[in-house]
Formats: sequence, structure tokens, C-alpha cells
Amino acid sequence: MNRLDNLTMLRARWARVNLTLLRSGMNNLGTDVIVAGAGPTGLMLANELALAGVDVVVLERLPQRTGLSKALNLQPRTAEILELRGLLAGAEARSYATVGDGHFAMIPVTYDGWDTRFPFQLGIPQAEIESHLEERLATQGTKVMRDSEVIDFVQDKDSVTVRYRTDGGENRLRAKFLVGCDGSRSVVRKGLEVDFPGVDGDGYGVVADVLFDKVPDGAQKQWRTMRNIGQPTGATTFKGLIPLGEPGLYRFTYGDRASRPADMRSTVSPDEVRQAVLDSYGESSTVTEVRWASRFSDAARQAAHYRAGRVLLAGDAAHIHFPAGGQGLNLGVQDAMNLGWKLAATVRGWAGDDLLDTYEAERHPVGAQVLHNVAAQLGLTPRTHETRALRDFFADLVELPEVNRHLAGMVSGLGIRYTTYGTSHPALGSRLTDQDVATEGGPLRPSSLFHEGHFVLLTTTPDHIDAARALSTRLTTQLVTELPWPSTEAVLYRPDGYACWTAAPTR
Ligand SMILES: Cc1cc2nc3c(=O)[nH]c(=O)nc-3n(C[C@H](O)[C@H](O)[C@H](O)COP(=O)(O)OP(=O)(O)OC[C@H]3O[C@@H](n4cnc5c(N)ncnc54)[C@H](O)[C@@H]3O)c2cc1C
Repeated sequence: MNRLDNLTMLRARWARVNLTLLRSGMNNLGTDVIVAGAGPTGLMLANELALAGVDVVVLERLPQRTGLSKALNLQPRTAEILELRGLLAGAEARSYATVGDGHFAMIPVTYDGWDTRFPFQLGIPQAEIESHLEERLATQGTKVMRDSEVIDFVQDKDSVTVRYRTDGGENRLRAKFLVGCDGSRSVVRKGLEVDFPGVDGDGYGVVADVLFDKVPDGAQKQWRTMRNIGQPTGATTFKGLIPLGEPGLYRFTYGDRASRPADMRSTVSPDEVRQAVLDSYGESSTVTEVRWASRFSDAARQAAHYRAGRVLLAGDAAHIHFPAGGQGLNLGVQDAMNLGWKLAATVRGWAGDDLLDTYEAERHPVGAQVLHNVAAQLGLTPRTHETRALRDFFADLVELPEVNRHLAGMVSGLGIRYTTYGTSHPALGSRLTDQDVATEGGPLRPSSLFHEGHFVLLTTTPDHIDAARALSTRLTTQLVTELPWPSTEAVLYRPDGYACWTAAPTR
């Protein structure tokens, strides 16, 4: 047998072996990273990984998108993040409202104390955010594998093997890392057996998308402000109405902070919603259709760790809380942005494994703070004479610019400053504010330099550019005529837009 025949025979034999493995559900495709879950967190993360040239497989349990939306907003910091990747314009095109404020315990807060190009919330249904991110992912050559439910996984020192179920049977896939972005009931988190401490809460809420024939008095026609969006209806009960863009269609929210149905997973019937509308707004408003309704609880829990070996957690898989302030989706997308470049650098060998530990170090405190502020918001529910007084008192304090700024910075993510690099310079750990910088060619919008997901160096001195280029090709450099800080001739931003290094003049 000559060499060619031998090769042909071997190939045929391997093809048979491969087929046998596939049929027995033991195929081993192999990839760099498996992302479990194609919600906003998983999709943002997959985009970041694909941008850095990482081979990523997204396993999603659902056979297709539901088109339903829990979240309805993008906070200013999330808008900034999307702008860094050229994703904001597409989100704006799919949005239906620009909301000039946010809220803390339904007390409006404005973003004007913050230096941002986006001092507003974008009203955009979660389903639109997801399809926008999924479309971008497809342009990067990565498709979501739908109808693929993660069952469990095992990890060793080199890899993690995920078992998942499709309608064709069970499969296994091996990767360098697995990230659980599989939501509040995360199989990945449970498999990791990390603690998930917190409280189960006592109350519940219902969200329902309701088409009104006659809209309740006082409801906004177009969503412009959080003012009067929600109100208490009793000592522990509440209601809220947010316009959804289509005439007469509203997000109706109601619930009770002190009691909940025996079965929180029970279906919310249209009759239950109609009755709640009647109880909340009386007979002057009439409902044509209840399009969708779902219950949620006021449980609050956070994974004790976001990483165990080759498995990480992000988004609702890592933290759950009552949806107060419009923060959960935004927190998850911001987790993904923090993790994406770090995981990519680890996988591609550009950084040591310990870079990944900074994901938990930076994002766990941010998640903890969100849970904390949500608890404080719930504490401001006017249950008693005393808490009513406390709430009034608090609302007065929010009028103070510094208090308003602090709260707005917290719910929006604009106030985040990572202390990873110390605080010796005001830029360190702070976000890029994206105000134009002066260059010899005219004003330049810095976010335009971040589209490739590289580090970005802004400097007034060509020497820094030469030195930096000699070190790395994954660096975008820009000579500017001035920087906004005194005695600073260079600032280096990470791919997620936080400054990690500054240089004082050398002479
Ligand atoms: C009523 C309500 C209103 C809200 N409003 C807002 C708001 O206005 N603003 C805001 O910022 N946040 C809001 N949130 C929170 C927000 O919806 C969540 O924080 C957000 O969906 C989290 O995104 P995620 O991608 O982490 O998880 P998810 O959106 O839950 O996505 C997880 C994905 O993983 C998939 N999956 C699950 N298990 C598996 C498995 N075993 N294998 C494979 N795939 C799996 C799921 O099908 C899903 O697609 C609200 C939440 C609720 C309940």
C-alpha cells in the first residue's frame, strides 16, 4: 500500500470513529470558551470574546427568542459601554424613549451632576437589546446554539467539559473556560456549589404588558420621566405604569411587599391582571388585552465567588435582586464588559491567569452595592407613619445636588471607580467620560478608538507612543494636544474604558 492509499484509509477510519462518537453523544468539538445562556450578559460577553479572536460557543436552552422583556432601560454607563463598541447607535434605533432621569425608591434622580454624553436612560425593551447583541455577534461569525441546555460540567486543571441537551440527545463540549450567564436559577452556579447568601424576601410583584382602551388618568403618554411612574397603593402594596411606545400599551407593575402567592411560579392569568388594574385605577380605565404577565420576588442573593478555577459567573447567575432602579440588566452587561477582555487575554496568552481574579475583585463589590441600594430602596416603602416621614425626609435630601449625584452615580454605574490601580491619580480606575480631546487634526471623540477592543493610550508625547508600540500591537495610540489633568502626559485605558495607568512628565 502506498502512502496516499494509507492516508486515505486512515482518514476513512477516523471519519467512522468521529461518526460513532457523534452518535453516542460524545463528540468533542472543542472551543476556547463556552458561554451558558444568551441573555444580555451572555451575548455581551460573547461579543467581547469574539472581538478579541477567541473561539466562543454560546449554549442557549430556548429554541428561539421569546420576544418578551423584563428590563426596559439602558442606564447611562451601559450606553457609554455600548458606544465604546459602536453598538449604541443600533440600540438607539431600536429604542422608543429617552428618559431624562432615573429613580431611587421611585424618587427621581437626575444624571446632570455627572460628566457623561448620555445623561438619560434609553427606553428599550430587553428583547431588542438581546436581538441587537445577537445580530452583532453573528457579524463576528459566532452563532448562538439554541435548544442547547447545559445540564452539568466537570473541570480539571486544563479544561472544563460541559454536558448539554439538545432535541437530538445529549452532547459534551470541552473548552478552556465556562462562563455561567444562565440567569437567576443558574445551573452553572449550582454546579459550582458556591455559596449564594442573601434573603428570600417576603413580597412579590407582577409585571404585565397591558393594552388599554382607556388609559388610567395621569399616565404618561410617552415615557419622558420617572416622576409619578409608580406609587404606593397601601401600607405594603404598590403600582406603576410605564408607556411602551405603542399607543395604549403599558408596562403595568403591581405587588405586595409583605406577602406573596404560595406558588410564585404559577401563571398570572389575564383576569388577575384586569382585577389589579381595577383595584389600582378604578373603573375609569379599561383593558383591551393582557399581552404578557409574570411574577417576580424580592429575594436578594449574591454568589460568594464569581470564579472557581475555569468556571466563572456573570449577570443574574451571580446576583439577584428586586428590580428597583432599573439596574439588573445593566449590571450584567457591565459584568460582561469587565470580564470579556480579561478572559480573552487569558485565553490568548496575553496575560497571566491572575488577571481573571481581578474580575471578581472588581465586580463583586459593585454587585454587593447594587443589592445594598435595592434593600435601601425597599426600606423606603412608606409602610408606617415613621417610614412615611423617613421617605419624605429622604425625598427632601435628594434635592441636594451632592445627594442626587451620589444616588444617580450608584444606580447608573457612572459612579464606579475601581481601586485596582490605587488612587494616586484621579483618572486611575475611573471611566472614560468620552468628552472630545484636542488633537492636531481637530477634536476627536475618544470612544471611536475603542471599537476594536484594544487598550487605548492618549498622550501628549510621541515618546510614549513609540515605547508603547514596541511593547504591544494590541494597543491603539493617539497623540493629543492636552489632557484634562495637570502634570499628566499619558493615560492608558483598558478595553472596557477604565484608566489603568498614567504618566507624569519626565522632564
Ligand atoms: C420584572 C422584572 C423587571 C426588570 N426590569 C429591569 C429594568 O428595567 N432594568 C434592568 O436593568 N433590569 C431589569 N430587570 C433585571 C433584568 O431583566 C435581568 O437582570 C437580566 O435579564 C439579566 O440578564 P442575564 O443575561 O444575566 O440573565 P437572563 O436574562 O436570565 O438570561 C439567561 C439566559 O440563559 C438561558 N438559560 C438558562 N438556563 C440555561 C441552561 N441550563 N442552559 C443554557 N441556557 C440557559 C435562559 O434561557 C436565558 O436566555 C428586571 C427583572 C424583572 C424580573
